Amino acid sequence: MRTRTVRRRRLPFTTGRKAAAAAVARPSRAEPSHATMGVRPRLPPRQGQGGGEDLGGGSSCQEGMRGAGLCWEGAGRQSSYWEGRGWGKVGCAGAVDALSPATPSPQKIALQLKATLENVTNLRPLGEDFRWYLKMKCGNCGEISEKWQYIRLMDTVALKGGRGSASMVQKCKLCARENSIEILSSTIKSYNAEDNEKFKTIVEFECRGLEPIDFQPQAGFAAEGVESGTVFSDINLQEKDWTDYDEKAQESVGIYEVTHQFVKC
Ligand SMILES: [Zn+2]
Repeated sequence: MRTRTVRRRRLPFTTGRKAAAAAVARPSRAEPSHATMGVRPRLPPRQGQGGGEDLGGGSSCQEGMRGAGLCWEGAGRQSSYWEGRGWGKVGCAGAVDALSPATPSPQKIALQLKATLENVTNLRPLGEDFRWYLKMKCGNCGEISEKWQYIRLMDTVALKGGRGSASMVQKCKLCARENSIEILSSTIKSYNAEDNEKFKTIVEFECRGLEPIDFQPQAGFAAEGVESGTVFSDINLQEKDWTDYDEKAQESVGIYEVTHQFVKC
């Protein structure tokens, strides 16, 4: 009897059109890319709607349509895709090219650090090869990078069409838009004893489509003893805590409870 009850409960979700749509296997994560949008399979129904909205027929936005402005998605429309976790939105890179400047408008985002400093000050990233490990989101379609990626001051990539340069230029795997992010070197600030346990901006990024959403401090930080001036030049904050001993001052030093947040400027 129990089995029958369960089946009856499920009945409304497995009838008619919905059942057919639900039976379709989910496409892989890589499937709804720009190039394959025209050949994607029928999709399961979107939550909160009667059935699977069929946007498939005319959604193939080909590279060649861009310049001619023939991409129907260029009318500001967005298509939907099944991402494996839920419904998401795919913007059209072609639309961006046809109707507005190809590069997204810049947005400055500040990375703020908070930590508890013990007998040290002037905590800072060391050198042009310091790696800012970030997870980034495409500002167009919302795709989030799965891996940590790093950007460095020493890396400079030219933007298309002589629009300057960036620390990283990356084509979004999902919507194919070319995004970039740049470290603004003049905004890099040290975290000092007086900033103790308060959020302070330590760097700003100029984001053109690539928006940092997570930060992982790793190696490459330096700091100094507050009174002694002893330099500690190999600080790794990956564990969010670091300790050492200042021989000159004869006291323990440390950096604890490192946290961060992003703030739009
Ligand atoms: Zn994208």
